[in-house]
Amino acid sequence: MMMNEQISNYIISASDAESMAESKGLTVPQLLPSLVKSAQRLARPPISNFRVGAVGLASDGRIFFGGNIEFPGLPLHHSIHAEQFLITNLAIHGGGPKLLYMAVSAAPCGHCRQFLQELRGVSDTQIVITDQPQENPNYNPVSSILPNPFGPLDLLDQEMPLILEKHDNQLTIKDQPFISENGNLSNGYTELLEKNEEKLKNKALEAARGSHAPYSRCPSGVALMDCEGNVYKGSYMESAAYNPSMMPVQAALVAYMVSGGGGYERIVAAVMVEKEAAMVRQEDTARLLLNNVSPKCELRVVLCI
Ligand SMILES: [Zn+2]
Repeated sequence: MMMNEQISNYIISASDAESMAESKGLTVPQLLPSLVKSAQRLARPPISNFRVGAVGLASDGRIFFGGNIEFPGLPLHHSIHAEQFLITNLAIHGGGPKLLYMAVSAAPCGHCRQFLQELRGVSDTQIVITDQPQENPNYNPVSSILPNPFGPLDLLDQEMPLILEKHDNQLTIKDQPFISENGNLSNGYTELLEKNEEKLKNKALEAARGSHAPYSRCPSGVALMDCEGNVYKGSYMESAAYNPSMMPVQAALVAYMVSGGGGYERIVAAVMVEKEAAMVRQEDTARLLLNNVSPKCELRVVLCI
């Protein structure tokens, strides 16, 4: 059935959202809470076994899904919260530029309430928490769950683009050896990497150019390649409060999952683009995460100026 096919892609088109709502005699915002259980099924929380689902309606009419992701063997700060997954899913697919409504299975934690502040006008986004005791929980503005927020406008000019708005960081790849001097991949995928090298580099560069890093001015992007040569990119997205920031390799893993990527062990190569001598560098933490989820994956770093 069409609906299942779309949920597996973590996105529902505007026209399908309309017809799904209509068939139930609901508006699209009223439909969102009924999709939260599907979003919870997308979660991968092997540490807590607590599945969180988040579903959002963007201003372009599409519905996006997110689930929480945990990585055993790593510090907990590598975890991806469902709301962060949802926003990353929106960012990857050009959703927005506004998030109008969202439904989440459990009350958003403080970290997510903070991360949401990177969306322009989020105080007006309507949110409903579906596991609340009352039978028909109501939508309330995000400002009601995070009054007196600290956010981007405390640190940035009003005109600076926020998450879901167009970023074009000016970055140029430094001419440097990629495969030849780094040696062949020891995991047996050298040929596939050679075939996809340009694509991987370009996607990682695209991701870095689209990175939301206004606080450190250290944009970064990652592209992952699976064992069939498919490429998935993710951009680094900072939070005004720093710690809730979304690392580029986490964002690329979200892209992989959104595309139905399957087990992490299928990821065999990764390219990261970041600035030379950057104040904030992602390489070491990305290596740690990738080595944990897919030990055979090899990460190459491409420096930019
Ligand atoms: Zn959270």
